Amino acid sequence: MTFQSLGLIAPISKAITKEGYTQPTPIQAEAIPEILKGRDLIGCAQTGTGKTAAFSIPILQLLSEGSEYSQKQRKIRSLIVTPTRELAIQIGESIETYGCFTGLKSTVIFGGVNQHSQVKALRVGVDILVATPGRLLDLLNQGIVSLKNIEIFVLDEADRMLDMGFIHDIKKLLAVLPAKKQSLFFSATMPPPIVKLSSGILRNPVKVEV
Ligand code: AMP
Repeated sequence: MTFQSLGLIAPISKAITKEGYTQPTPIQAEAIPEILKGRDLIGCAQTGTGKTAAFSIPILQLLSEGSEYSQKQRKIRSLIVTPTRELAIQIGESIETYGCFTGLKSTVIFGGVNQHSQVKALRVGVDILVATPGRLLDLLNQGIVSLKNIEIFVLDEADRMLDMGFIHDIKKLLAVLPAKKQSLFFSATMPPPIVKLSSGILRNPVKVEV
């Protein structure tokens, strides 16, 4: 399996080559084609398997190809929710790397710091938002973030969300997301509460296990 055979658009292939990746990891090889088809997906994978690129690359491609794409009036069209600040920053960096030739913009929001610079980045306009649950709900409640244009939603490290007590925040968040969207769900383990949560989010998902 090569990245060429995944049918990626030139700006993304170029970024991957620049990064020095020669072939997709197993989760990338399985997940990327399904996500590009618009399928919901459940991925059982740990950090280190290349799962960030497995969702970031197809999201960048789908948003680049979207007919409504306008760099003048950006709307948050993809939301990635992850449990920790460190993960959020890492995902944000990956999106910047793989998306550097796409013209798409992203930003990262997380708690524990003043919201000012995060709000400023949001006001400029972004296509992709990476967030931890608490700060996201906070900015939603303040009316600073709107999620009504979300086309692709990612819940990353769902089992850690549960361990960290974020399940109620996630449920609140799900209630304000548009019903019609593509959802991608990642978890290293699948205890019963996670299976239940996933079945409430996903529609006829493809399952990828690595
Ligand atoms: P992740 O599991 O998403 O945290 O990724 C783990 C590490 O693997 C990151 O440092 C990525 O830069 C790297 N990586 C992801 N995909 C590939 C690939 N196809 N080839 C080589 N390295 C990769």
